[in-house]
Amino acid sequence: MDFAMSERISAACQLAREFVEKELIPLEREFLGKTFAEVSPILDQKRDMVKKMELWAPNLPEELGGMGLTLMEHGLISEVLGRTPLGHYVFGCQAPDAGNAEILHKYGTEAQKAQYLEPLASGKIRSCFSMTEVDMPGSNPVMMDTTAVKDGGDYVINGHKWYSTAADGSRFAIVMAVTNPEAPPYLRASMIIVPTDNPGFNLVRNIPVMGHSGDGYFSHAEILYQSARVPRENLLGPEGMGFVIAQDRLGPGRIHHCMRWLGVASRSFDLMCQRANSREMSPGKSLGTKQIVQQWIADSAAEIQAARLMVLHAAWAMETKGHKEARDEVSMIKFVVANTMNRVVDRALQVHGGLGMTDDTPIAFFYRHERAARIYDGADEVHKAALARRILESYKGRVVR
Ligand SMILES: Cc1cc2nc3c(=O)[nH]c(=O)nc-3n(C[C@H](O)[C@H](O)[C@H](O)COP(=O)(O)OP(=O)(O)OC[C@H]3O[C@@H](n4cnc5c(N)ncnc54)[C@H](O)[C@@H]3O)c2cc1C
Repeated sequence: MDFAMSERISAACQLAREFVEKELIPLEREFLGKTFAEVSPILDQKRDMVKKMELWAPNLPEELGGMGLTLMEHGLISEVLGRTPLGHYVFGCQAPDAGNAEILHKYGTEAQKAQYLEPLASGKIRSCFSMTEVDMPGSNPVMMDTTAVKDGGDYVINGHKWYSTAADGSRFAIVMAVTNPEAPPYLRASMIIVPTDNPGFNLVRNIPVMGHSGDGYFSHAEILYQSARVPRENLLGPEGMGFVIAQDRLGPGRIHHCMRWLGVASRSFDLMCQRANSREMSPGKSLGTKQIVQQWIADSAAEIQAARLMVLHAAWAMETKGHKEARDEVSMIKFVVANTMNRVVDRALQVHGGLGMTDDTPIAFFYRHERAARIYDGADEVHKAALARRILESYKGRVVR
């Protein structure tokens, strides 16, 4: 396997890295102490700079104003951007908009593309993805209470969702709802576009996550869909294909997430090493002279490197073999990388002592927000169970000596 980066990607990663260091990391203290509404104007200025540098939306095709990168190439940039909580937003490749843009591009009608995709891709509007429900297990989403019932030329949607990330201030939601209750479980649901100014779209609250409700892009909403009436033209893709489209969205999305998490891990690792060298624990003896800290540093370096190679391999497998054939690799990276990142962030926090608990470094933000990596897009246990079942199946009838 060739590990060399093309000149274009190598240059793009370098530019992105410099931008993150010079333009975004200095904004973090302000970001951690203010609301999204307060920092939004300066983030918009940074977004304009990124567009001028032609680094906007690395994941989107050129015809949508993006860089048109492959999954692996985008992964490499995503790792750089993950070093700061602001990176993906400022470069226009933040979840859930990135995934929503990808499925609108693949399944949207011309009218949907003009109304929703174009302004979304250019960063003029934001969106959310509304699948998980308060009273149903997100880990088994075929158990879904939200319904979209046909009435004349409309769908009428009723349901209680939560964890619709970034719903606050977004222009539209892509909602998963049961449209065909009599169909087999995986053919019952559809994706439907609901503008957030619809009278039936009721944002109940931004959910407090680890004590922070957040606002705007950095929030997760609870939403009641109460007889939200939308024209049938708002159906995204064919009726009953909601889960098929969701899989299309999740596969590449997991590569994006994993590479972003590696950026979080690398930044935390860098801060940990810097602190280990600079914190004098007794005259002439830094924290880095303690064997236990050395072990955390060596383990973290090796774990990050192993995780990184696994993700790049999974991206390559997905591009060369297709999503279905690469599902083992994707399941593996989902839980390995989430846990690697969580361990490295935890060690970095510990090395910083009391400072690690403050918002004077981004480590506490990472600790609060990235714990969720082991839950969303398939909890660890779900991926492990599915992977183990497939492995055991492959051993049936095999003789091992
Ligand atoms: C920060 C964050 C952002 C999110 N963003 C979005 C979003 O934008 N849109 C959206 O629709 N959803 C979003 N979600 C929701 C997320 O997808 C769900 O939380 C996830 O699918 C798990 O569903 P659940 O919370 O209902 O947990 P449950 O399904 O109730 O599962 C609870 C726990 O049970 C265990 N478990 C589950 N299945 C098994 C199994 N088969 N074997 C053993 N153990 C098992 C796991 O440990 C799991 O954590 C987000 C969640 C978080 C935390």
